Amino acid sequence: MTATDPMARRGLLIILSSPSGAGKSTLAKMLMGWDPSLRFSVSATTRAARPGEVDGEHYHFMAEAAFKSLVAKGAMLEHAHVFGHFYGSPMAPVATAIEAGRDVLFDIDWQGAQQIRNSALGRHTLSIFILPPSIPELRRRLESRGQDGSDVIAKRMQKSWDEISHWDGYDYVLINDDLETSFARLKTIITAERLRRAQQPGLADHVRKLHAQFEEGQP
Ligand code: ADP
Ligand code: 5GP
Repeated sequence: MTATDPMARRGLLIILSSPSGAGKSTLAKMLMGWDPSLRFSVSATTRAARPGEVDGEHYHFMAEAAFKSLVAKGAMLEHAHVFGHFYGSPMAPVATAIEAGRDVLFDIDWQGAQQIRNSALGRHTLSIFILPPSIPELRRRLESRGQDGSDVIAKRMQKSWDEISHWDGYDYVLINDDLETSFARLKTIITAERLRRAQQPGLADHVRKLHAQFEEGQP
């Protein structure tokens, strides 16, 4: 895609946040299936892999020293301490995708969302907060996921109060009751945001061409 292509767009940084268990990974996966041009930002983390998680696909799993060295080098777009572990979004793949006009999807907490919003890329950020329909349902989802022990689930439930209180810093908020409804709404939000004037740098050229056609007597 060239700068003069009227279809050319800037890449968006699409951030999904929610209390753990509300459904953001499920929705992120559905979005990746919907639009293969989306790039998922694979975070680095110092937590251990859960059963079924693949290094380099779900996370870059690493030791604390390696994580801290990346932060010191300025290689992280954002980073935070969540549930006793470090998490961060490596900068390089995001920069490459955005320059190529591709959108990047982030599954990160409110601290990371705030840092990206305040970064040089903040203008091109679309942030969406996912709320559960109720707290008993949030607990049911955490338990049904079957990936964490009861102590970890208790810790995540305790943290939910805090995470939920950051809902009002986001551009959009979805109550993830019916999954298909939430997915349809997410697709609508992303489709509309992609059409914002600021996301379409090729428009000015396109309008110049339309004017030129008038002048050439082609109306
Ligand atoms: P998160 O990434 O926010 O921690 P997950 O996407 O892992 O949450 O979802 C937690 C559990 O809830 C998963 O088992 C998932 O299948 C289920 N889930 C997600 N959204 C819904 C929904 N709308 N209705 C019922 N179950 C859901
Ligand atoms: P989990 O351990 O369940 O995969 O993730 C725990 C929390 O950390 C979730 O709220 C998730 O969104 C958040 N998280 C995952 N990766 C990152 C990251 O790179 N940066 C930040 N700030 N949070 C992250």
